[in-house]
Amino acid sequence: MAMQSAKDSKGESAAVTARAQLLDGAVIAAQIKNEVAREVAQLWADDEAKPCLAAVRVGDDAASAVYVRNKIRACEEVGIRSEHHALPAETSESDLLNLIASLNARADVDGILVQLPLPAGIDEVKVIEAIDPEKDVDGFHPVTIGRLSMGRPSFVPCTPAGILELLDRSNIPIAGTNACVVGRSQIVGRPMAQLLLQRDATVTICHSKTRDLASISRQADLLVVAIGRPGFIGKEHIKPGATVIDVGMNKITDATIARRLFGVEADKRLEVISKRGYTLVGDVNPAEADEVAGRRTPVPGGVGLLTVAMLMRNTVRAARQRRRLP
Ligand code: NAP
Repeated sequence: MAMQSAKDSKGESAAVTARAQLLDGAVIAAQIKNEVAREVAQLWADDEAKPCLAAVRVGDDAASAVYVRNKIRACEEVGIRSEHHALPAETSESDLLNLIASLNARADVDGILVQLPLPAGIDEVKVIEAIDPEKDVDGFHPVTIGRLSMGRPSFVPCTPAGILELLDRSNIPIAGTNACVVGRSQIVGRPMAQLLLQRDATVTICHSKTRDLASISRQADLLVVAIGRPGFIGKEHIKPGATVIDVGMNKITDATIARRLFGVEADKRLEVISKRGYTLVGDVNPAEADEVAGRRTPVPGGVGLLTVAMLMRNTVRAARQRRRLP
């Protein structure tokens, strides 16, 4: 952040640009997964009795396939059993609802996750509402959302829950701060704002119809951005010294855009583009955020990893609640 004075080898002062401190989601996600793994090992010695997550995916969206694969891999890491129900794109809504009903009825399944988005023609709301709230480890069911807004959470949606863990474990204060959440989706923006409010932040929610976004977001000590617009949040949106949490996950393929967004890291990212065809960027322009923010989460390596770790924690919570363990 900002310009600082430093002495060169002749002892003369020179202006250097310090970067915002990076909040490492990988380290904290690993801590959480270790804690979950320990809990699973202590509570369930018998493999057959270990918590079980059923992941349901419909269609062949490549990103969804990667997300589900990562979640299944995380289950293996922490000792949770998992099932992957990969259904063809032409699956009917009633077939999907039948599968959910059978997973609801099974005593050996603790958590159900339906990977979104679902193909056109399937009503996502209907599908989410069909999941037994006791097994709603994503935290998207209306009953779960109602409990959250009353301050009686059972399952907290994984991305905002992960962000709170990141803030707490990085000793970043929440109470009394001005927090701004940009984006009001059901899965990130709204629950994030609720959670920050419950932790005594003064919360402003912004969205696509907000007038003069920068004048509002620039007041925030804590800025959480979840809008799905690559590198949209620039230095004019950020209060000097603020903590910036970048939830966005966008693919970019264009070298000129990569140069503009990644500053000193551009060469590394261009290499990734030439190898893989794309690189990931969040909703925040990292090069500009580095000039102004006190701390920020990187993309990749920030919020995404925490989301998966919190899903593991919610699954264990579901198993404990269902089996009446303390
Ligand atoms: P979403 O459902 O598409 O909602 C986007 C929100 O951003 C909407 O509320 C929209 O406002 C607002 N918005 C769009 N353009 C805006 C602008 N120019 N200025 C201000 N607000 C604007 O998004 P989402 O599901 O929350 O996802 C957001 C991003 O986070 C995506 O990149 C997604 O891939 C990523 N994501 C990452 C994780 C993770 O684990 N890292 C998890 C979930 C999502 P309106 O309501 O007015 O339309």
